[in-house]
Amino acid sequence: MTRGRQKRARREGGPAAAKIAAARRRELKLNAMTDETRSKHESIQAGVPVPAGRDGDGARAALLAEAERRLELAAGRDAARGLRRVVNATGVVLHTNLGRAPLSEAARVAVAREAAGYCTLEYDLETGGRGRRGARVEELLAELTGAESALVVNNCAAAALLTLSALASGGEAVVSRGELVEIGGDFRVPDVMSQSGVAMVEVGTTNRTKLSDYERAITGETRMILRVHPSNYRIVGFTAAPGLGELADLAHDRGLPLFEDAGSGALCDLSPYGLTDEPVISESIARGADVVAFSGDKLLGGPQAGLVVGRREFVEVLRRHPLYRALRADKLALAALEATLEAYRRGAALAEVPTRRMLAATSGEVEARARAFLSRVEGCRAPQSLRGQIITGESAVGGGSAPDVHPRTALVALTHESLSPGELGKALRFSATPVIARVADGRVLLDLRTVAENEEAELLRVLTSLPG
Ligand SMILES: *Cc1c(COP(=O)(O)O)cnc(C)c1O
Repeated sequence: MTRGRQKRARREGGPAAAKIAAARRRELKLNAMTDETRSKHESIQAGVPVPAGRDGDGARAALLAEAERRLELAAGRDAARGLRRVVNATGVVLHTNLGRAPLSEAARVAVAREAAGYCTLEYDLETGGRGRRGARVEELLAELTGAESALVVNNCAAAALLTLSALASGGEAVVSRGELVEIGGDFRVPDVMSQSGVAMVEVGTTNRTKLSDYERAITGETRMILRVHPSNYRIVGFTAAPGLGELADLAHDRGLPLFEDAGSGALCDLSPYGLTDEPVISESIARGADVVAFSGDKLLGGPQAGLVVGRREFVEVLRRHPLYRALRADKLALAALEATLEAYRRGAALAEVPTRRMLAATSGEVEARARAFLSRVEGCRAPQSLRGQIITGESAVGGGSAPDVHPRTALVALTHESLSPGELGKALRFSATPVIARVADGRVLLDLRTVAENEEAELLRVLTSLPG
């Protein structure tokens, strides 16, 4: 090992780490070289002329340069397979493929500064002994929803699995036929129920379910009434379903808990922004739901997490269940969640939580940003090859929430003289910070609703460095 290599090894975690890193680089290089040799072989066999210089050395240099170029490309492709930060210019606020909610500044700082190293995850500074994981987050959740108690697990699917397993395993749960949801990524209510050891008792019809349907289905085997929010679809027309309060009264009358899987679930009323059909968690609690589960990274705008709130006696059963140990949230998620909930508690969610701001932005506000941005692009580059125009369009909430809400927006519509819309879209994806845009109607469409203001300079650099 050379002196420099030894120094670096010490810095990066000892000789073992250095050995692994070196082996990894060697493996990458070897793979790329093998690929390159194979492809050269194939082209020679196929009769593709080998680039020739004036002499043998020229041909060799050309070959080596080509091999080097391809090696760089292969290394770039390898890097692109890892987890990368991207600019989301799609206008889909909770883009599941792009990691749903972007975190607030405070949440990012909390993850990096408080939780990344050692932290008080399960430590009580006052007693110097063991503390309860997530204690502060649970307090905040209870306060913000009016619930007695709260618990945090890995995601909402885990929250549903845990609640069903802990409260209804070995018995029956009654659920409307209109609520047998499938969420993307294979969360299907009937499958989660059977996995939890709960017999599903379907009542009513797809479009109409009455309170008496539930009433008639309750037997000695019934352990709970289940209400599921049909997050990603709507049944419209001739429809009926009992209110949550009526269901709660029936459940309590028969000594049963009412469990609501609220899916997105908003911490405050989002109807001013057109989201009229999303359950507000505090209202579910006020109407008598005993346990409510919802996601941390959908409308709440925090990290991936499954949040359970409700009556203490039930939440404690969940906490003591062996599945909780397998499904609990990690320190990074808890830190980000705590910071996000603190913003709600200070009444600062609209100002600080990015998804809240994105959902609240009017089309006029997005248009003003789009126009200013386009004129900056035009100021930075001669517009011969890249042409832009502002057009109206629609954003989307995404994340399986509010499928019928399409906020009006303004789009920067781009065309390029020598790149097709597909090629332009690809060039944006391959820029230093990948930019993800929509390609539609022969244009590349940028929706600044989902682009943070401090990402605009970066987006501008990407557009100005396009070829042509
Ligand atoms: C989204 C959703 C889930 C799954 O939530 P994750 O946090 O993605 O696990 C479960 N139930 C409903 C009703 C949902 O909308």
